[in-house]
Amino acid sequence: MKKGIHPKYSDTTVSCACGNVMELGCTAPGLKVEICSNCHPFYTGTHKIMDTEGRLERFKNKYAKAAQAKK
Ligand SMILES: [Zn+2]
Repeated sequence: MKKGIHPKYSDTTVSCACGNVMELGCTAPGLKVEICSNCHPFYTGTHKIMDTEGRLERFKNKYAKAAQAKK
């Protein structure tokens, strides 16, 4: 390998929002993810809504107002 052009590759920990922590080789230290193979619906077989920014609440409010306006 040519020196000075490759980023440092080392073992790092990746922590997920569900609490799962994995160790893998990566060039960036200490990664954080919102979803992983431990909690993704595809693997768990259950439906789960990732509502990190209150989007679901805004969506509900929007349609509640629309329904009221029709009456
Ligand atoms: Zn996870």
